[in-house]
Amino acid sequence: MNRLKIQRTGILFVLSAPSGAGKTTLISSLRQKPDFVYSVSCTTRPPRRGEVDGEDYFFLTEEQFEERAAHGDFLEHARVHGHLYGTPKSTVVGHLKRGVDVLLDIDTLGAAEVRANPDPFIQGAIADVFIMPPGLDELGRRLRKRGTEGEEQIATRLRNAAAEMSKWREYRYTIISGSMEEDIEKFRGVMRAERYLSRRLELDFE
Ligand code: 5GP
Repeated sequence: MNRLKIQRTGILFVLSAPSGAGKTTLISSLRQKPDFVYSVSCTTRPPRRGEVDGEDYFFLTEEQFEERAAHGDFLEHARVHGHLYGTPKSTVVGHLKRGVDVLLDIDTLGAAEVRANPDPFIQGAIADVFIMPPGLDELGRRLRKRGTEGEEQIATRLRNAAAEMSKWREYRYTIISGSMEEDIEKFRGVMRAERYLSRRLELDFE
């Protein structure tokens, strides 16, 4: 009983927020402190200016994506705003098994698919968080300010936002989006608490 050895498997942080809720900025701020791995998704969406293949997304054609989906390479995948998005399974599971926490930035359909995963290892790893924007007007304002989508895409994203926002109760945590600093602090709070969960820990006294 002299020395305590602490071990745990990784936590699968699942973060969802409607487009324009400030999620991308939140995630890049969180990534400044690399105490988790960000899961880079595959997508058929064309890259935005400045996006780097393999860093922001793995950009695939529809055929490449469908082939990987048919191989069972995705932990989940969904069509969002007209494009396909998917989470590479083996990378995520590999990190979790080594005790590394992983952050997924996925939509509400993808999150539901992860929650429905029958594997008890995945079930035990999930900590899902919804970022609720302060309102649809504010969301539209943020999307226009970002300037990466045309009016048609903005309209699609706002329509989808309302549907996504109705799903908040499916998540273990809900953060009402405020300032970027507040959102970071709240998300960090969730990360800290999840890391102290007794059920995640293996304690060995040597
Ligand atoms: P964007 O095109 O703005 O980068 O992302 C659009 C939406 O796709 C966001 O809500 C984002 O969370 C979601 N998304 C990104 N990667 C994935 C993924 O691997 N799976 C699913 N289901 N959604 C994703």
